[in-house]
Amino acid sequence: MTNTERARGVKLLVMDVDGTLTDGAMYYSERGEELKRFSTRDGMGITLLHRAAIQTAIITSEHSPIVVRRAEKLRIHEVMLGSKDKTTTLLDMARRLNLVPEDIAYIGDDVNDLHVMKLCGLSACPADAVEIIRETAHLVCQRLGGNGAVRELAEFILVAQDKPITLPEQW
Ligand SMILES: [Mg+2]
Repeated sequence: MTNTERARGVKLLVMDVDGTLTDGAMYYSERGEELKRFSTRDGMGITLLHRAAIQTAIITSEHSPIVVRRAEKLRIHEVMLGSKDKTTTLLDMARRLNLVPEDIAYIGDDVNDLHVMKLCGLSACPADAVEIIRETAHLVCQRLGGNGAVRELAEFILVAQDKPITLPEQW
């Protein structure tokens, strides 16, 4: 099966946060605040998926209010924080949404994504994911985590489904 064929059936994109939607860096201010840096281009990719009726979700092992804010802004449908076992979290989510793992695309960058990736219909990773993840993913993006990898995957799914990768004049 080609990656385009895998992408045709995708109804939900599940994303890791650190190293995937971000560059993996965690910034700390002197006051102890944590900061993360997201890509607005990845954000637009998520918007394009929503316009094509493809749902999105985040599964992260962290408990970060920053993630909640970013997810709210982008209207990401499902946000699962503090997941110690992403496979269980994903299977619970799939059941709740009446989906099977074949309907799901997953993008992640590190070993805590490895098992869940193997379950999903289409698995992807940023170009700078750890080696075992690059060897496992169906699709290794050319772009880096936090720098367009999610946008690249979003466009790949949209093109495979003959859906637009641009916005109409009025939106
Ligand atoms: Mg990660």
